[in-house]
Amino acid sequence: MQLLRRGDSGPAVVEIRRMLTRFGLLAETSDDAASEGSGSDGSASDGSGPDRSTHFDPVVEHAVRAFQQQRGLITDGIVGPATYRALREAGWTLGDRMLALLISTPMCGDDVVALQEQLLELGYDTGRPSGVFDEQTERGLRAFQRDYCDIADGVCGPSTLRALRQLGARRVKGGRPHLLREQELLRQAGPRLRGKRIVIDPGHGGPDRGVVVAGVTEADLMWDLARRLEGRMAATGMEALLTRRENACPTDQERAAFANAAGADLVLSLHVDANRSMHAEGLATFHFGNGSGITSTVGEALAGYIHRELTSRTAMLDLGSQARTWELLRLTRMPTVRMELGYLTNLGDRRKLLDPVFRDVVAEGVLVGVKRLYLQGQDDQPTGTFTFSDVLARELAREPSEPATAVSPRR
Ligand SMILES: [Zn+2]
Repeated sequence: MQLLRRGDSGPAVVEIRRMLTRFGLLAETSDDAASEGSGSDGSASDGSGPDRSTHFDPVVEHAVRAFQQQRGLITDGIVGPATYRALREAGWTLGDRMLALLISTPMCGDDVVALQEQLLELGYDTGRPSGVFDEQTERGLRAFQRDYCDIADGVCGPSTLRALRQLGARRVKGGRPHLLREQELLRQAGPRLRGKRIVIDPGHGGPDRGVVVAGVTEADLMWDLARRLEGRMAATGMEALLTRRENACPTDQERAAFANAAGADLVLSLHVDANRSMHAEGLATFHFGNGSGITSTVGEALAGYIHRELTSRTAMLDLGSQARTWELLRLTRMPTVRMELGYLTNLGDRRKLLDPVFRDVVAEGVLVGVKRLYLQGQDDQPTGTFTFSDVLARELAREPSEPATAVSPRR
């Protein structure tokens, strides 16, 4: 192909500008700006035509250099065969086209990279995520399809993409493989609670009393709640571990390190809130996420289940389930949910929290939320109606939803 460089113009430049724009490296050209024929870089531009959108101007050259740098190409600002091929490959998103092994001219692109990364993270060996659909990629894809799809034809089409999506989640697009792994671990874990290792994190403790109102302390309340939850979890055969002793206050880093070292399946962090206004009230749950698409999908699902059970059982004001990047949420390697169980500064919430029966209701709601996570929606019992004895009965009976294949033992 003809080399394209600064000063060139024509349809090939239009195509390159379009690709660079799509990758966010070049601003959209407005018709007004184009007809003016001058910009901040006017002196460097040759200004030979009124329509700059067909021109390889210094701005385009800068964008080409940026692209070359991102892709590990020689950064010369000239579009030759290697840069042109890389531009074309970068334009493919997983799902844009069917992917299969073509011996003579292998399919290449960012969609192939995304497929390879997802399969690798799910434990299927596609070789290095090279972006080239080769024999090894096909072998890995077929192995995945044998486990998750109706046919193992080695073609990545709609049914394969659907299976990949189901292991991922709404917001997961290629390139966030560790989130797919979280989903896969959840699927492998099966619906039973028995054997699951849960870390319960009663907030504050020791010299740190948390919120203190009228002699009532968050640290003591959450310790009591944690013990109630621990007892119920133990009764179902779960292994419940607490992040602290009654009179200790580890840092968030220490609590996260404890959960990581224990290899916990989930972490549940218990807090109450406070506000200068006595009118602030209600219940909120939090999971790891940054609000722009990065999220712990399993954490989000767990937070949602717990939140719905608790709002339905306690009649506390619903303050929603939200993504946060707080230390404990960020540093734990497993899905973690933090609950803010009402405002101790609010009379109504405080009265509820002081009632041991209410704390039993909360413990039961949290346990049922966890159970619902492991059932992965394979359950028709309405929110708020699943009781502790239901959960126990389900644990003792053989679950119809339990997979026929053996669950791999914990390492
Ligand atoms: Zn707190």
